[in-house]
Amino acid sequence: MPMPTMELSRNAVDFIDDARLQSLVSAPRPEPGRVREILAKSLQKQALTLEETADLLNADAELTQEIYAAAHQLKETVYGNRIVLFAPLYIGNRCVNNCSYCGFKASNKDITRRTLTFPELEREVVALEKKGHKRLILVYGEHPDYDAEFIAQTVRTVYATKSEPHGEIRRVNINAAPMDVEGYKIVKEAGIGTYQIFQETYHKETYAQCHPPKTRKGDFMWRLDGLSRAMDGGCDDVGIGALFGLYDWRFEVLGLVSHALFLQERFGVGPHTISFPRMRPATNVDIDGTHFVSDEDFIKLIAVLRLAVPYTGLIMTARETQEVRRKAMGFGVSQIDAGSRIELGGYTEGKELQALDKEQFNLGDIRSLDLVMRELMEDDFIPSFCTSCYRLGRTGEHFMEFAIPGFIKRFCSPNAMCTLQEYLSDYASPETQAVGARLMEKELAKMEDGKMKSEVISRLEAIRNTGKRDLYF
Ligand code: SAM
Ligand code: SF4
Repeated sequence: MPMPTMELSRNAVDFIDDARLQSLVSAPRPEPGRVREILAKSLQKQALTLEETADLLNADAELTQEIYAAAHQLKETVYGNRIVLFAPLYIGNRCVNNCSYCGFKASNKDITRRTLTFPELEREVVALEKKGHKRLILVYGEHPDYDAEFIAQTVRTVYATKSEPHGEIRRVNINAAPMDVEGYKIVKEAGIGTYQIFQETYHKETYAQCHPPKTRKGDFMWRLDGLSRAMDGGCDDVGIGALFGLYDWRFEVLGLVSHALFLQERFGVGPHTISFPRMRPATNVDIDGTHFVSDEDFIKLIAVLRLAVPYTGLIMTARETQEVRRKAMGFGVSQIDAGSRIELGGYTEGKELQALDKEQFNLGDIRSLDLVMRELMEDDFIPSFCTSCYRLGRTGEHFMEFAIPGFIKRFCSPNAMCTLQEYLSDYASPETQAVGARLMEKELAKMEDGKMKSEVISRLEAIRNTGKRDLYF
């Protein structure tokens, strides 16, 4: 295999204008009329400019209530009430970098280093399947051992690992270090879903402080350009993110929006997802809390992101506590992880629930998938394991074509109901089954009578009574 290069993408540019973002962060409070105009534009499902996003970020407390209401409304119209569920699977915690905030940093000698063997990986996958998971994100440190070929091999192994009677993983996403174009081609070939890279901070000075210059991750531009190379390599389904707590949260939101607008303009397709992890405690990590984000600001940033990029999925992870997750859910989140364990081997060997000597950081919500599903349904969300778009080739530009008004609601809700029925039939506890049955009745009652509704009813019956699985629109 050829050695990875450090070549940037075609026409790579630094699209983060620090001075401009900084001046937008400190712009004066916008007039109520201006904020309302921006909300109206967003409710027409149009992406916002950087200036418009900054005005929402700078709006006062009273107008912020209107921002929440608009975010909630937009989420309902674009996504309906479904929430996609996934689980993270940590493959290896070896790392050559020294990111100041991370328990996997090379200088942390108190962490047990480990890479799952392929038989161990298969056992973890079976354990996840037996809980009902269908979608995983594989996570890796940055290390020469974790090259594109290795990552591709782990992806193929996950897809090939099935368990009786209906256990299978239908979508594998990746969170790994940036690659060169050849590397992306290799992982694409293995059938990955989304390739996620978090910029961590879009503020260059802070970036340099957190990532020592002589490490691979110390090169800001290599990372910023990482997903453009993914596009050049044929991975048109990408996820961006920032680690909130390193610098001013408003600046980071503007960085994320700049990145989304850049990808949309350059490649005709924006990011599929945005993640906004907040800093968590980790072993031998001591971060100055100046920029830590309060719960209140956290919810505002989610609402503003929802309005700024109407068609981009928003991922909230189990770093957040149950209470924050429950509260934030209605303002625009479309995906969460559940039943998560982030220590290596955590799904098969996890005796202590939070073992900091093995983890990258500490989780906030360690409830089981079953409990998270039950709570979602009690709050009238439809938990979904749908993987239909990706398997029907509706990604990248093609996905954008389908992301027309009503599509997500028309196709995604029925798909969500079918995958939820699979979960209820195969894995749910009796209590969750009862809550699920009530939700299903309510959802069916909401549907207009007609061909689609009869088809959904007949598919749900087929799943319940004839053992049919993996039916999608
Ligand atoms: N090593 C690869 C990289 O850095 O891109 C893969 C991702 S790393 C294992 C996953 C993400 O965890 C990082 O991008 C970072 O945003 C996040 N992370 C690291 N330390 C964290 C902490 N203490 N609290 C919360 N999230 C953290
Ligand atoms: Fe390594 Fe990623 Fe952690 Fe940085 S964030 S130390 S690259 S695992």
